[in-house]
Amino acid sequence: MGNTELDQLRQKVEQLNLQLLSLINDRARAVQEIGRVKESQGVNRYDPVRERHMLDLIKENNDGPFDDTTILHLFKQIFKAGLDLQKEDHKKELLVSRKKKSEDTVVNIKGELIGAGKPQFVFGPCSVESYEQVAAVAASVKAKGLKFLRGGAYKPRTSPYDFQGLGVEGLKILKRIADEFDLAVISEIVTPADIETALDYIDVIQIGARNMQNFELLKAAGAVKKPVLLKRGLSATIEEFINAAEYIMAQGNGQIILCERGIRTYEKATRNTLDISAVPILKQETHLPVMVDVTHSTGRKDILLPCAKAALAVGADGVMAEVHPDPAVALSDSAQQMDLDQFEAFYRELAASSFVKA
Ligand code: PEP
Ligand code: MN
Repeated sequence: MGNTELDQLRQKVEQLNLQLLSLINDRARAVQEIGRVKESQGVNRYDPVRERHMLDLIKENNDGPFDDTTILHLFKQIFKAGLDLQKEDHKKELLVSRKKKSEDTVVNIKGELIGAGKPQFVFGPCSVESYEQVAAVAASVKAKGLKFLRGGAYKPRTSPYDFQGLGVEGLKILKRIADEFDLAVISEIVTPADIETALDYIDVIQIGARNMQNFELLKAAGAVKKPVLLKRGLSATIEEFINAAEYIMAQGNGQIILCERGIRTYEKATRNTLDISAVPILKQETHLPVMVDVTHSTGRKDILLPCAKAALAVGADGVMAEVHPDPAVALSDSAQQMDLDQFEAFYRELAASSFVKA
C-alpha cells in the first residue's frame, strides 16, 4: 500500500519536472524574442529595474514552503540563463576571428607575402643608430635573398635616461636603406601623432609590446593603409592581444601581423618566456599571420636557433631577430643582438632546416 502512494508521489514529481522544463523553455523562448526586439531597437539587454520588478513580484506571491531567499536564488539562476541565451544569440564575432573569416589573411608588403605559406624573416638592429650601421645589416639581409629589415627609430626604453632613438632622422635612414637595397622596412611608432609621418618612410608600422594597449595608437594605426606588426604586451593574455588587433581592424586596416615576443613570468633564465603555444592558438582563433620575435622573448643568443625552429614548427608565419654589426657597442639591447657572423650561422642553419626548406 505504502509503496503505491510513494510511486504516485514520484510520478507526480516527474510530471512536475516535465512541466517545469516546459515552462522554463517557454520562458527562454520569450526572453529570446525580447532580445530580438531589443536588438532591433538598439536597447541594452540587461535591465536592472525590470529585474528588480520581477523579483519583487515573485517575492510578493511566494507563499512557501520555500523561503524568499531560496526562491529568489532559483529565479535569479533562471534569469541569468535567459540573459546568457540572449548574449549567445547576439554574440558579435570579432573581425579578426577565424569564425568571421575562415581563410588566412595574407599581408602583402612590397610584393612579399606574409602568411601565404612561405616562412618570412625580419632581421635588423634593435635601434637605428647611423646609416652605416643599418647598411651593414641591410647588405647581409640582401645577400641572403631576404626582403625585410627592422630597426627602431623611436625606442620605448625602460629608463628615460637610455637612448631614445633618432626619431624622424632614423626613419629617413630606413627609407634611404629601403630604396638603395630594395628592402621593406619595419619600424616602431609610439605615438598617434607620428603615424602620418611614418607613412612616407616605412613599409610596416610596428606597435611595440609596451604599447599593445595604447588604444589611441591602435586606432590611429587602424585608420591608415599601411601594414601593422602588432607585438604582444609584456603581460597581455592572448584574449587581450586579439582585442588589440581588433582595435586596428575595426578602423578599417586589416593588414595586421601578430607577433609573439615573450611574456613576463617568474622565470629568470630567459629575458621573457616565449609562449610558444600562443602561436597555434592565435592561428586557430584569428585569420591573421603570426610571427615570433626570438630575440626579445629569449634575450639569449645561444637559444635563438632552436626557438626559431620551434616557432616555425608550431605554425608561425615568420621569425624576427635582432642583428647588429657591432653588438658590443649597440645603443640598445647590446647583449642580445647577433653580430653578422652569428647571423650568417643562424640563418644558414635555419634555412637548411626542414621548417624552411620546402
Ligand atoms: C623591438 O622590437 O624593438 C621592441 C622594443 O620589442 P618589444 O616591443 O617586443 O619589447
Ligand atoms: Mn631590442
